[in-house]
Amino acid sequence: MISLKNIVKTYDGKTVLHDISVDFPSGKTTVILGPSGSGKSTLLRSIDLLVRPESGSISFEDFNYDYSQPISSKESFKLRRKTSMVFQNWNLFPNLTVLRNITEAPINVLKLSKDEAESKARDLLDRVGLADLEERYPSQLSGGQQQRISICRALAMNPEYILLDEPTSALDPELETQVLRILEELAKAGQSMIIVTHNMDFARLVSDKIVFIEDGEKVFDNDTKEFFEHPTSRIKDFLSGIS
Ligand code: ADP
Ligand code: MG
Repeated sequence: MISLKNIVKTYDGKTVLHDISVDFPSGKTTVILGPSGSGKSTLLRSIDLLVRPESGSISFEDFNYDYSQPISSKESFKLRRKTSMVFQNWNLFPNLTVLRNITEAPINVLKLSKDEAESKARDLLDRVGLADLEERYPSQLSGGQQQRISICRALAMNPEYILLDEPTSALDPELETQVLRILEELAKAGQSMIIVTHNMDFARLVSDKIVFIEDGEKVFDNDTKEFFEHPTSRIKDFLSGIS
């Protein structure tokens, strides 16, 4: 389990996360919901140190880190190895083929041989239905295909958790479905995931747990079933699209 405790983050004197504590259970999918600007990305990025909160801590099995303390590169590497982030705009390397996009980090960071990395990449491509595209370049693929490749790239690092920040918000509904189906399969297979999304049907279908954030405060943290079946009046407003 990943546990964040008492996270405080400010930008230019403005507090955007107010003392947030939240657990992300292992083997489960947690969805982070909330209006735009509420602090969802900031919270997610704290987990892999893309964002450094002023205070609070993260623990992850035997790993404990207090954000107010300096961190050695060895320790930050250890934390980052446990998670892989998938971005909204997928961020593939434009000058590398699909196969090399997936094998680059396993070869350079995990020190896999080229053969091992390629064989693993091909298994992953097969799993997302893109086995025939390994020699293409990102610009020759649809957005949905690129996002599926970026999920393969994340999985190729054997992370314990996959972190996804609005993975389908840049996609047309038709392409969105392809990506959501993959995530649904990963959730069913027990992959630990933390997903920021605005897609309520998807959140309801795949997540075990929902964390709802508003203005940097946690306003709900419980089972998905509870969120949808017994919504508070604030959640009802959110679900009906009022904000
Ligand atoms: P969300 O992902 O829920 O839309 P964010 O975590 O991106 O929200 O942002 C939360 C708040 O922090 C917003 O008010 C946003 O403008 C502000 N913010 C985010 N990143 C930065 C940054 N790098 N510099 C200054 N303010 C930021
Ligand atoms: Mg965001």
